[in-house]
Amino acid sequence: MRMSPARVWREKGARYRLEGGKCKKCYKVFYPPKTACPYCGNLDVEKVELPKRGKVLSFAIEHSVPEGYRHQAPIIVALIELENGVKVLSTLTDVKPEEVYIGMPVEATLRRIWEESDEGVIVYGIKFVPVEQ
Ligand SMILES: [Zn+2]
Repeated sequence: MRMSPARVWREKGARYRLEGGKCKKCYKVFYPPKTACPYCGNLDVEKVELPKRGKVLSFAIEHSVPEGYRHQAPIIVALIELENGVKVLSTLTDVKPEEVYIGMPVEATLRRIWEESDEGVIVYGIKFVPVEQ
C-alpha cells in the first residue's frame, strides 16, 4: 500500500500559511499575491500572512466542470471575506452545496486540486472548509 500524498499534505496543511500581497505604496492587501498591486500598479509589493478564517459573502454552484476536475463536481465557488476584510475568491470543500449559506464561517486549508495520472503530477491549492463559529 502506498502512502497517500493527499493525507500527508492535509497534515501539512494544518501549518500552512495563507499568503497574500501588500502594496508598499497604497497599503492595500490582496489575494492571491501578485508582483504588481492590482489597485495602483505599484511593483513594490511584499508578502503578508493572511488570517485563515473568514465567512462566505456569496457563492455559486458550478455543475459544468472542466475535464480533470469532473470527479469533484459540483464545485462550490465562494467569495470569502477574511477576518481582516480581504476578499478571496476560492472553492469550498467538505460541505454539500445545500449546506452552504451566506455568513458561514470557513477556514483555508491546503487540498489536492487535480491529479494528472500519466505524469503522476498532483497539484495542491487553497480551498476553504466549514468551521465551528
Ligand atoms: Zn497599491
